[in-house]
Amino acid sequence: MPDSIPVLTIDGPSGAGKGTVSRIVASRLGWHYLDSGALYRAVGVAASWANLDISDPAALVRCTFDTRVSFSDAEHGLRVLVNDVDATDELRLETTGAVASAIAAFPEVRSALKERQRAFRQPPGLVADGRDMGTVIFPDAPFKVFLTASAEERAKRRYKQLKDKGVSVTLDGLLREILARDARDAQRTVAPLRPAEDAVLIDTTGLDIEQVVERVLALVNP
Ligand code: C5P
Repeated sequence: MPDSIPVLTIDGPSGAGKGTVSRIVASRLGWHYLDSGALYRAVGVAASWANLDISDPAALVRCTFDTRVSFSDAEHGLRVLVNDVDATDELRLETTGAVASAIAAFPEVRSALKERQRAFRQPPGLVADGRDMGTVIFPDAPFKVFLTASAEERAKRRYKQLKDKGVSVTLDGLLREILARDARDAQRTVAPLRPAEDAVLIDTTGLDIEQVVERVLALVNP
């Protein structure tokens, strides 16, 4: 039974600009925003705080159900609390992304997070950012976008972001990490990264954020 609350799903590989675009689009539409990657990252962080074996799906599922995650709009941007501790900075680390990607390969973990993600569907609407928003979590969403960009462009963007934050990384190293993560996300047997059949593909290589935002908004308000 399709839900009457509209959802715009924005899926794609890391570095395609999903996070920034989704947040701006959600704010312009006045809709809620789901950062599903942050949920996987939060479970990864909680599992490492608890010294869990991250290759043990049963332990990860318990951790997924036990972990409280809340999002707050603080003065300095969106903050994410994991078990009431501000974990915003830790969540953004490359190492956290790698753990999230590893635990996201377990079907048990994905299904433990399913209802939690669907609960974000609240009036007047939701912008859902992730990998399987249009294919698995909200297959009935009326608006679906798949954002891509070349791996080189994504590595360059990430390099710039990290440099601006004073983090020391190499472009080559980032490109290797991005390609490895893409391969893992695309090859896993559950919810592999792929566009929904009814998604609109937007290649953001060479486009700036505002151009992408306009294209996405035009789908919702033609
Ligand atoms: O989007 P973000 O980089 O924060 O996601 C971290 C990792 O979580 C991704 O590399 C991916 O493996 C996983 N993920 C997922 N499904 C989602 C969102 C994220 O598998 N809907």
